[in-house]
Amino acid sequence: MSHLPYFKYHTDPLKTGSIEKRETICPVCNEKREYVYVGPFYSRSEVEDICPWCIANGKAADKYDGTFQDHGEVEGITINPDTHGNEVIEELIKRTPGYYGIQQEKWLSHCNEPCNYLGQVGWKEIREMGIDVEEDIEIEAKKYRLSKEEFCKRLINKGFMQGYLFQCIHCGKYRLTSDID
Ligand SMILES: [Zn+2]
Ligand SMILES: [Zn+2]
Repeated sequence: MSHLPYFKYHTDPLKTGSIEKRETICPVCNEKREYVYVGPFYSRSEVEDICPWCIANGKAADKYDGTFQDHGEVEGITINPDTHGNEVIEELIKRTPGYYGIQQEKWLSHCNEPCNYLGQVGWKEIREMGIDVEEDIEIEAKKYRLSKEEFCKRLINKGFMQGYLFQCIHCGKYRLTSDID
């Protein structure tokens, strides 16, 4: 058990590599912590060694007026101010650990809410998990003007073409995006 705070859109940041077990002093709370955030943080100041707790309570984003994910790269969700407000986006960009992609990180959505980020994958990992991401594979292959077969062949974890896996927090559907070196 890591006793890390719970992030609904990034439930296992140790596994994805965005949080590491390493002792540091957090610049926000000034506490000695055993875990440290090593993902992206977009702010005017260069900030390192933020602790997971100062992500979860929003204090890191507040202190530096920063975000962990670019708002413009969150896949569209419909904002209804009465029932489903900006709160959802705020939680994702200000209170959720981000992740590093090769290029600009995208955050996929489904059922009108951001998905849970599960980490980097290649086609081999997708096959081993036995999951269905057929629709996204079609979209991604088109993006590179490749056949689906060619795309799957080139999608290798830690390779030249990298996959990023997400899962819908409502219906459980898996989603895939990718980028290229
Ligand atoms: Zn802290
Ligand atoms: Zn869904």
